[in-house]
Amino acid sequence: MNLLFANDRRGNIPLALRRDPRTLGALRPLMGEARADVAIVGGGYTGLSAALHLARAGYSVALLEAHRVGFGASGRNGGQLGSGQRLEVDALERMAGPETARRLWDLAEEAKALTLDLARESGVAFAPGIAHAFRSTREFDHAKAHIDLLARRYGYDRIEPLEREAFRAILPSEAYLAGELDMGAGHLHPLNLAIGMAGLARDAGARIHEGSAVTRIDHGRTAGAASTLFTDQGRLIADHVILAANGYLDRLEPKVAARVMPINNYIVATEPLGARAAEVLTRDIAVHDTKFVVNYWRLSPDKRLIFGGGETITYRFPPISRPKCASPCWRSIHCSPM
Ligand SMILES: Cc1cc2nc3c(=O)[nH]c(=O)nc-3n(C[C@H](O)[C@H](O)[C@H](O)COP(=O)(O)OP(=O)(O)OC[C@H]3O[C@@H](n4cnc5c(N)ncnc54)[C@H](O)[C@@H]3O)c2cc1C
Repeated sequence: MNLLFANDRRGNIPLALRRDPRTLGALRPLMGEARADVAIVGGGYTGLSAALHLARAGYSVALLEAHRVGFGASGRNGGQLGSGQRLEVDALERMAGPETARRLWDLAEEAKALTLDLARESGVAFAPGIAHAFRSTREFDHAKAHIDLLARRYGYDRIEPLEREAFRAILPSEAYLAGELDMGAGHLHPLNLAIGMAGLARDAGARIHEGSAVTRIDHGRTAGAASTLFTDQGRLIADHVILAANGYLDRLEPKVAARVMPINNYIVATEPLGARAAEVLTRDIAVHDTKFVVNYWRLSPDKRLIFGGGETITYRFPPISRPKCASPCWRSIHCSPM
């Protein structure tokens, strides 16, 4: 099975995202033979950031994207720009010691700052505020200790704990007991960021060829020899290759692909909710909860509920069916798109 086309048609971007007002511009597939210092496979944030920064550093760069930029996770994610790493600093301190935990925190703050700069440069709006919704007193007590640790030892004081009533004033769901609000984090339109980064990379001189799936790479046999990347209509010869193909890597690099586990996660958007949007959120923030398979949501500028959650561990998406509970069911925020 070709993972790139298992669920989507060639050259498309996901249906739900086509409403976006920005135009994607014309496809410019790779035709014939081309050369570059660096070839990049994949036009998500990883490939686009590499293309932008290498082009700004003076390298000749060509990026090959099978569909359109932002086709993969970068165009379909929850748009949450969070603080820190997947594990919180107290857990990281226990696991790797305070110095490493500090470095990991700093790295995440740098990544956040860089993303904000890229959003600003490409004219993508950023809305500050991510809430973390807790389901138990134990989770809330831990959050308060964590907020205190971040303020004392990491100099980060942008997170506020919110008791039940204060939290419900923002998030009127009965499913959560309390929460915290991080005003140093926030949300943005994920596909617009990818399209914006592609524009910045092009302005810096990178060549971006969409509709150009790489089918094979011949790596030079001797040290320093160039590699050749093949697409249906062209080939690209490059001194360096960056594989930024995420979970679609497949046969391009079988050794790595053999260790990739496909996990699909799902997002639905409702019709615009009008005045009822205030039953979901009363402020323009994003939310995630503490479930292992996390629920996350926000409102779009036209007041649709954009709700993510659920997982399947297969390459193919399951057939799209009606939500399990009667829609709209945002009062308990438990419906699933699967
Ligand atoms: C549903 C969902 C919600 C998420 N929510 C968040 C969130 O709120 N906040 C957050 O920080 N992260 C979130 N993430 C994670 C985040 O989106 C990803 O970590 C990030 O987008 C990965 O970027 P990438 O460039 O590595 O991969 P991708 O964006 O997947 O890009 C890979 C690209 O490579 C291309 N490609 C693959 N193979 C080839 C080939 N052979 N030839 C040419 N092109 C090829 C694909 O078409 C694709 O466009 C979420 C992810 C998902 C799936």
